[in-house]
Order: sequence, then C-alpha cells, then structure tokens
Amino acid sequence: KTDEIKVLLVENISTIAEKMLREAGYQEELREKLRTVHALGIRSKTQITEDLIKEAPCLLTIGCFCIGVNQVAQEAALSRGIAVFNSPFSNSRSVAELVISEIITLARQLGDRNREMHNGQWKKTAGGCQEIRRKILGIVGYGHIGAQLSVLAESMGMQVLFYDIQQIMPLGMATPTESLDELLERSDFVSLHVPETSETINMIGARELKLMKPGAKLINASRGSVVDLLALKEALESGRMGGAALDVYPEEPAANGPWSTGLEGLDNVILTPHIGGSTEEAQAAIGVEVATNMIRFLDQGTTLGSVNFPELDLRVNTFEQPSTPYPCRVLNVHQNVPGVLLKINQILGQFNIEKQVCESRGQYSYIMADVCAGCETDLDHIFESIFHLPEAVATRIVY
Ligand code: NAD
Repeated sequence: KTDEIKVLLVENISTIAEKMLREAGYQEELREKLRTVHALGIRSKTQITEDLIKEAPCLLTIGCFCIGVNQVAQEAALSRGIAVFNSPFSNSRSVAELVISEIITLARQLGDRNREMHNGQWKKTAGGCQEIRRKILGIVGYGHIGAQLSVLAESMGMQVLFYDIQQIMPLGMATPTESLDELLERSDFVSLHVPETSETINMIGARELKLMKPGAKLINASRGSVVDLLALKEALESGRMGGAALDVYPEEPAANGPWSTGLEGLDNVILTPHIGGSTEEAQAAIGVEVATNMIRFLDQGTTLGSVNFPELDLRVNTFEQPSTPYPCRVLNVHQNVPGVLLKINQILGQFNIEKQVCESRGQYSYIMADVCAGCETDLDHIFESIFHLPEAVATRIVY
C-alpha cells in the first residue's frame, strides 16, 4: 500500500561530505537503511552492488537521478525483482544550447579575447572572426541532442548537414550526407553527438581532421573517446584547424580539483569540464522523469523507461463500478523457464483475468495481470500461491 512505502534519497551532499561519511562508515549506514526501504533514489556516485541488493529485502525500485546507471548492479537487481530507472535524455536541450554558444564563441574567438582582457590586454581584431549565418554545421549523430541542435542552428541561419548510421527524418532544411567523410569535407563547424561504441572510439583521428576544411572548427560534447586528442592537438598547433570546443575527455577526474587535458593555452580552444547537461532545468527534468517512472512502477507495476526490466505497460481500468468487489493487479517476476506461465495462469485462471502482458529479458520474465477477485481471501490465495512457486522471484499485488 502506498502509505507503507519507505523512500530513501541519498547523495544530495558535497563531495567532501560524502568522502567524510564514507570514511565514517557511510556504506554501512546505507546497508543498514536499505534493510527497510522500498524505493531508493541515488545519483551517480553511490555504488549499489550485488551484496547491497542482497541485503535489501523490501527494495522494489532504484531511481538513478542522473544519466548513467553503471553504479547499479542491474542484473542482480532484476534477479530480485527491483526495477531501475534513469533519465537518459532530460538534458538534451542543455547540451544543444551549450554547443550553440560554442559555435558563436569559436566563430568570434571570444575565449581568446576574454582571456586577453582578463590578462590586462586590449586586442581589437576582426582577423579570422566571422558571422555564423550561412555557415555549414555538420552534425555527427542525429539523435536527441543532434536533432535539437539542428533546429537551433537553422533558426540562426546556419545550413545543417548531418550523418547518422540510422535512417532519420531530417528536421527543417537539414540534409543527410552519404558518409562521414562527405560531412567533414563540407562543414565549417563539425559537432559530435554519437554514443560511445566500438565504431565511435577515435572516430575523429588524424585522417578525419585532415579531411576538414582549412580553418574549420570541431566541437565534442559527446564522449571523450570519440576524438583522438593528440591528433587534434597537432591539427590545432599546425594552424590547419580554426579552433575546437571540448566538454568531454578520454579520461575525466572523479571529483573537482586540478586537472590537465594537455590542450591548455592553445588558440581558440574552449575547454569545459563535462557541463553540457549541467543546468537547473535539466536537473529538474531528470527529477520529474525518474520520480514519475518510480511512482508508476510502485503504484501500477509499469516498467516503461526501466533499464533492467522488460518494458511493460498495462492500461489502468478506470471503471466507476468494478465488475467485482476486489479487482487487483498481480505483478510477478519469475525465472524465464518453460512451464512457469502455465503455473501462474492456473492460479489466476480460477478468476476472471481482465488483461495480461508478459515479457522476458534474459533469465527473467515479468508478468502483469488484472484479475477480478471475489473477496479479500482470494487476494491472499493468489499472492501466496504465486509467491511460493519455486520459479517466482518477486510477487506483488496492487489494488
Ligand atoms: P542518442 O542516442 O539520442 O543519439 C545518438 C545518435 O548517434 C543516434 O541517432 C545513433 O544512430 C547515432 N550513431 C550511433 N553510432 C553512430 C556512428 N558510428 N556514426 C554516426 N551516427 C551514429 O544520444 P544523445 O542523447 O543525442 O547523446 C549523444 C551523446 O551525447 C552521447 O554520447 C551522450 O553520452 C552524450 N551526452 C553528453 C552530455 C554532456 O554533458 N556533454 C550530456 C548528455 C549526453
């Protein structure tokens, strides 16, 4: 029942405080708290290991209020019927806006002028500075961020080319290119928005940089591994390239403090510490998306947006007069082996099954069924019978 659900939110604390707490047995405190909570909210730094999951008997869902989910042992969570949610795309607009600001900053060499003024130097020049109107922006990876960027760039008068391995409907006047090489050869600005895969590691190396127009600029706010930084440094130092903006790096520090990318001091190079998605709006959107998914899972069993569960949804009946006094929704995770569905349906089939969906993912399957029970004892019977099936992993009944 909703009023019995206990929620634990952690990590809204500074890095230093977290370190102090960890040294003072923070992980132990988390272990202790996890014994009684039903829903856990974390961000990227709290490691939820298989061991911790074993000691969380009541836990039903983990919300990662961030983009990544590698901090959670997802398979172990599924094996206990715990659904994990995150928010992978809530910050797309923030990244696209950062890139827009970088396009203008690079075009007008604003980083250099700003640095000079802070160093007490007045250096008024128009050399190499341009408007972005009618310039060609090449977007590599036309997904959530690439497509947003396309719309924003066009509205400022840029011409957009894009390259994606998928066939994607172009927005506005954007035009797909046949190949990455073609995009590199034709663009004044190249912005990367691909995920990290075996194909995208060092996707932009010495060969690709040579294909770019003289004076062209490169922007990477995707993943650090996509660009060969040494090759980029060489292309910038030789003056062949007109500038670059980097938000992500092959290696990034775990906490704020001194750090070197090896590109410091180069002309017209903007370096930012992986802040593409770091805005108040993106944080709020992440909060709304993850909390919404957790609530829907707790109340209805819906797993849309889950990273470790089969994604299932079952429309909720909103009849004013239910056909029986005890309509209920049965939720069950079980081992994905032959015959289990038959056993479950032999139990549910004693009643009227209104709706049912089932899907498997690897070793486990998830079933949602709306059943009309006649009395409260029926509910206990359904729960106990399914709960005690040897293949059952987790069983819940919601009303
Ligand atoms: P997405 O999955 O919506 O889009 C990625 C696109 O890249 C897809 O259309 C896919 O087909 C395409 N793609 C994959 N492999 C390709 C290849 N080899 N060549 C060409 N296209 C390819 O992802 P998204 O949300 O737009 O994110 C893009 C990148 O931005 C990801 O790497 C993500 O981690 C990163 N990101 C960075 C920040 C930041 O703070 N800097 C914030 C959010 C996301």
